[in-house]
Order: sequence, then C-alpha cells, then structure tokens
Amino acid sequence: MPELPETETLARDLDAIVRGRVVDRIEVPRSDVLRGATARSLRQRLTSHAIEKVWRRAKAVVIDLGPGRHVVVVPRFTGGLLVRDPGVPDDAYDAVRFRFTDGSTLAYRDVRRLGTVSWFDDEGLAAFSARIGPEPLDPAFTAVALSAFVRSSAQPVKKLLMDQRRLAGIGNIYANEALWAAGIDPSRPGRGITSDEAARLRDAIVDVLQRAIAARGTTFRDFRDAYGSRGGFASQLAVYGRGGEPCARCGARLTDTHAIDGRATVFCHRCQS
Ligand SMILES: [Zn+2]
Repeated sequence: MPELPETETLARDLDAIVRGRVVDRIEVPRSDVLRGATARSLRQRLTSHAIEKVWRRAKAVVIDLGPGRHVVVVPRFTGGLLVRDPGVPDDAYDAVRFRFTDGSTLAYRDVRRLGTVSWFDDEGLAAFSARIGPEPLDPAFTAVALSAFVRSSAQPVKKLLMDQRRLAGIGNIYANEALWAAGIDPSRPGRGITSDEAARLRDAIVDVLQRAIAARGTTFRDFRDAYGSRGGFASQLAVYGRGGEPCARCGARLTDTHAIDGRATVFCHRCQS
C-alpha cells in the first residue's frame, strides 16, 4: 500500500501535470469508491472548475479545485491516479474520470476498489486532517514531539509509528526501515524509548522518507506513479522484504516475524536492541 513517499511522488507529479486544467465533465463508472458524494454531486460541484493544486496529506492525495472544493483520494491497495493524453483509451478498472477541456483525462483506477474518493468542503477537509497525526517531514516533528507520543503508550514502538492518528504517512515498509536505521527493536514498548533513542528514530524516519521520495517510492505490486511507472526505492531497502538475509550493518541473519503487530516485521536481533 502506498505510504508517504509513494503518495508524495504521485501528488507532486499530478500537480505538475494537471494544475490549471479545467474539468469539462466527470464520469463515475464505479460509484462504490465515492464517500460524501454522488456522481451527480461531483458533477455539480466540479464541472467548469480548474485544478488549482494537488498535494498530499498522510497517505491521501488532495485535489483542490478552488475554495471549498476538495477531492481526497486514498489509493490503499490497488488504487492509482493516472493522467491520459487525448485519444488514450479508458481502462475497465477506472472508477472515476475527470475529463478536462483540453481532451486529457485524470482517472482514478482501482482493481479491488478498496480505495476511496471523497468530497470535502473547507470545513470537512480541516476535520479530515485533524483526525490524522503530524507530518513527519514538517519541521514541527522534532525528537521531543516523537518522544512525547511514543512514551505515552506501552504498545510496541513499531505499531505506534504506524498509527495514523499519532503520525501521518508511515506504514509497514518505512516503520521497519526507520527502526533498523535507528537500531531499535520494533517490539519494544513505546514507554521505554529513551530521549536519545527518540532523537535517533526521528532522524532515521526523516532520512528514510527523504531518500524514498528522491527514489520516487517503493513498488512491490501495485503502486504506480502518475506516469504508470514504478518507484525505485526497493533496491535501497535494508530490512523490509529481506528476512533471512544478512544485516547490512553487522552481518547477522535478519529475523522475519508476524508476532509484533500481525504485519511482516523484519529486524536484526543483534544490532536492534
Ligand atoms: Zn545487525
């Protein structure tokens, strides 16, 4: 599932491509992805409006079409936003299509349709954002801020990092990577993380996210950017998907377990303590 770097890549690409394009009409071949809107209400609200900005909040792509008009797309497992030039055929898995006046199309395509396309006014968008924790690449995300939330809970630190109400955009891939980089055992209770460890973890989170954005994200199965291409970060992963391989830091065999939070956790028993 796309995490912060993949969603950031998608939002930046889309902003560069579709900003300024004017909606000619909206098509909704699969309305079950819609939240807070119907095909009809989307048409009424968006037709003839220009895309002003595309940006990211947590794992969501936010498409602004002027004040009070926001479309929020959460791609989850198999969703993707793709731009098609005029004349390029539609796809059978398209759920929502923005047809622009220049003949191009922005399509939300989702094979399993577990993702969502929501409509928000300004107030609704603020409420959506308020339910999510701070952005880890925001300057306000300091070691002190990280320490405050991890030390407030006895849950495993890995699970806390992935809790969207506490911190935005981190999923299984980048939680595993950041904890390895910081040398912290993912199963440790948040409460026991020292302030030195919190500082290392904050730096590790920022570093891994920035490197992953520079590589345009990690693709395993379904993630594609707005051009339909794969991300390039998989080759730089230190632990995720590498259970049984030697640790790049100490050479010990990496442990692969589902025992911490039901998700695949890979860590080094020797140098993550
Ligand atoms: Zn190691």
